[in-house]
Amino acid sequence: MSRKVRVRFAPSPTGALHIGGVRTALYNYLFARQHGGDMILRIEDTDSTRFVPGAEEYIIEALQWLGIGIDEGIGVDTPLNIHGPYRQSERREIYHIYVKQLLDSGNAYIAFDTPAELEAKRQEVPNFQYDATTRMSMRNSLTMPREEVDSRIKAGEQYVVRFKIEPNEDVHVHDLIRGEVVINSSILDDKVLYKSADDLPTYHLANIVDDHLMEVSHVIRGEEWLPSAPLHVLLYRAFGWEDTMPEFAHLPLLLKPDGNGKLSKRDGDRLGFPVFPLEFHDQKTGAVSSGYRETGYFPEAVINFLALLGWHAGGDQEIYSMQELIDAFSLDRVSKSGAKFDFEKGKWFNHQYLQMKDNAELAELFLPILQQHGVQADKAVVAHVVGLMKERVNFVHELWEQCAFFFVAPTEYDEKSLKKRWKEDSPRHMQELLELLEAQEDWSAEALDTAVMGWIAAKEYGVGLVMNAFRICLVGAARGPHIWEITGVIGKEETLARVRTALEKLS
Ligand code: GLU
Repeated sequence: MSRKVRVRFAPSPTGALHIGGVRTALYNYLFARQHGGDMILRIEDTDSTRFVPGAEEYIIEALQWLGIGIDEGIGVDTPLNIHGPYRQSERREIYHIYVKQLLDSGNAYIAFDTPAELEAKRQEVPNFQYDATTRMSMRNSLTMPREEVDSRIKAGEQYVVRFKIEPNEDVHVHDLIRGEVVINSSILDDKVLYKSADDLPTYHLANIVDDHLMEVSHVIRGEEWLPSAPLHVLLYRAFGWEDTMPEFAHLPLLLKPDGNGKLSKRDGDRLGFPVFPLEFHDQKTGAVSSGYRETGYFPEAVINFLALLGWHAGGDQEIYSMQELIDAFSLDRVSKSGAKFDFEKGKWFNHQYLQMKDNAELAELFLPILQQHGVQADKAVVAHVVGLMKERVNFVHELWEQCAFFFVAPTEYDEKSLKKRWKEDSPRHMQELLELLEAQEDWSAEALDTAVMGWIAAKEYGVGLVMNAFRICLVGAARGPHIWEITGVIGKEETLARVRTALEKLS
């Protein structure tokens, strides 16, 4: 690859960034990093009707949280920002130059047809399309004398600029994932490139002009843009920029968990999982959409999960750090077919990352949750408890349910456990055990085990029967880690107190 790799992530600020958009950003980032290239963030805000306040800030914050670094463009203050502005609404003057260039070269024309006229045409002509077959019957600079065009513009009449597409030509798009895509230009309409009403270009023109001026080498974007790619190729040609046209890679769609159709924003609400990286508060509707961050995901887990939705290195490896992804990623191993969104797998990734985390780091995250429940605990003790219990959870917040009994005595006892494990003899057994434990001086797990097992054997009691009843006293239910782990953490006084309370309440 002789050319410097420069990629761009070019979202429109129309709401929260969908998880599919995050994956597009990630693949761009991995590709850029692998090739020592640049990753640009550009905001495509030419459609003012769809602008959502706060969306740009949201995008920046989401990328930062995930560790998807931006080298150039929006959200970074760097001397590398020599191709700015990076917000399309601030590039009007630049687009004027290129609209004029296409008009002057005869690749575009001015059209005055009003929305109402176009609608009337659509009613009148089935499958109406503004193209080579119809343009000469419309109100545009191809059908009007030059003076009339000028005087209409002078009088303030609104117009659009349309791309003049020559019919009957096979347009080839080389896609790095899909290979050669060919479509006939006759199916394309004369796309609107510029609208005088808001003095802004449309997506297609702005996108091509910016990719060219920003020296983008590779356009990596969602499959929904594949149908636009032939038009883009024709635009590059019309500008005479074919030699430096970027390479294209269109990423497969993210599909609903059952594989039936594209994953949508509504699927998240319907099926109960986030489709956005961060929680999003829609300022217009007041609606709140859940985010991976607020649900308790680690950013590394989200990255790992997303990276494998549509790409696989080929072997068995599933856990990848960002650096490993950068090293292993390749566009030719991106799948052509849509990737099913497997949310359970997402949880599995979080579980894996949670196991890999240091207990002290997890304790740091768990301490505020303990505090919310009114528990003040020593950090070293919390780290020890987390180490005992983390295997059982996918998220840090789930630790509370699993570990609460280490920090607060049970106030009630699980019905089911009692039915199964608390027998007629249990109060007598616990009374004897209490006396034994009161006299026990060495509180180490080994000493306790020797003493208690010795007593059970001497009395010929059932180990399971006694130990399960003991567990109910300490935990309030028939669950938890090894019993001596519990007595070790809560200590002698608390152990005795819990057995006494249980005897009072359950006898
Ligand atoms: N603004 C487009 C989007 O929102 C960008 C498409 C492209 O990358 O060309 O997805």
